Order: sequence, then C-alpha cells, then structure tokens
Amino acid sequence: MRTTATKMGLNVIMMGAPGAGKGTQAGRFARERGLPKISTGDMLREAIKAGHPVALEAKARMDRGELVDDETIIAIVKDRLQQADANRGFVLDGFPRTVAQARALDEIMSQRNNGPLIVIDVMVPPEELVRRLAMRRICVDCGTNADPAAIDSCLKCGGRLEQRADDNQDVVRERLNVYTRATKPVLEFYRERPTFRVVNGAQPAERVARELDMMIADAAGTEASL
Ligand code: AMP
Repeated sequence: MRTTATKMGLNVIMMGAPGAGKGTQAGRFARERGLPKISTGDMLREAIKAGHPVALEAKARMDRGELVDDETIIAIVKDRLQQADANRGFVLDGFPRTVAQARALDEIMSQRNNGPLIVIDVMVPPEELVRRLAMRRICVDCGTNADPAAIDSCLKCGGRLEQRADDNQDVVRERLNVYTRATKPVLEFYRERPTFRVVNGAQPAERVARELDMMIADAAGTEASL
C-alpha cells in the first residue's frame, strides 16, 4: 500500500567491482538524500587509524587484497545499522561482499522491517577497472577519492594525495580475482529480485548518476505498488 510505502526507509546497496565508481555514486546519492553512506572499507581504514585491535588484525588481509572475515564485518555493519541516522534508510558501499554477508543482511532487514533492499550493480569492463585503479589517488587527511583534476593535493581539504596501499598492480589483480570469486555470487543471489538494477558504470559520472537516480526511484516505486 502506498501510504505505508512512503514511511519505509530507502535502503540501497551499491554493488560493483573495485574501481567501478560505486563509492563515488554511493556518496553522492547519500548526500543528496540525507542518508548515511556506510562503507565497510572506510570504517575499517578509520578503525586501523584509531588503532582498534580487531581492525589491526584485519589490516594484513586488506593489504593483501583479501577479504576480512564475515563474522567481523557482519558485526560492524549490524552495529552501524542500529544507529539512529540509519532509521530512514542507508546506502551501503562495499557490503555485502559474500553470500554469507548477504544472508546476514537479509536477516537484519527482516528484523528492521523498514522497506526492501534496492540493489544496484555498477558495471564496468575489467580492463577499464585496472586502468582506473592504477590512476586512483586518495587524500591522506580526509580519505576521499581525489578528483581526477587534482595533481598533488586534495581539492576538498588541501591534504596530500597518495596511492591507496591496496591499489598497486598485484594487489589490484588479487582484489579483482576476489571480486569475481566471492562477490559475483552475491549478484546472482540478488539478481531475480524485483528491486535489482544494473547501471552502465563506464559512462561519465554525471550520466551514471542520472540513470542511477531513475533506477532507484523506479525500484522503490515498483516495490511500493506491489
Ligand atoms: P574497499 O574500500 O571497499 O575496496 O575495501 C577495502 C578492503 O577492506 C577490501 O579489499 C577488504 O580487505 C576489506 N573489506 C571491505 N569491505 C569488506 C567486506 N564487506 N567483506 C570483507 N572484507 C571487506
């Protein structure tokens, strides 16, 4: 019923390989809708910076491009989704990455009973992903992905730009392998749902943004009219 639907949260998962631009799109969409962007990669990097023991254990895996264990990640996300700012919905970036995580999220969602999951796959061909990741720089101070126009300092805060530890070529290859092995099955897990959409991420970012907004509105509407 539509009246109930308007009260439901807008719960979005932004899926896509490393370098597909899912983080950028997740950030923009979340900002525009006043929803929290929940990035498990950012949360882990912040926890490492703060010297959190569990995160320091995860660091070795991250540096090798491997996934952090499901139990740790699920606990982090479960805790984060219970915070008040996620009541109206959220944009997940980098989670779920395994079918076990996707199943755990379904369970969390059924307990929340606050609207469906809208799953967006930002699709980019592998050779374009490798090219993008080799060029990617992040700001050491504010942690955001550098604007491609920035040369050596962050356009947002002036911080120094550097390559992410896990963006070097060997690690990139491993992260793409891990994506294919562990995360593609997650897409299959979601593919048949009425709220699953695929956007062509190889287009200019503004175009991806426009298409993505329409897809999310459509998916939310589809669910509302069921
Ligand atoms: P990202 O910034 O999303 O590319 O994540 C960086 C690294 O953090 C990944 O290569 C993994 O080692 C770890 N990580 C982030 N999210 C997850 C997740 N959902 N499951 C397991 N490991 C994760």
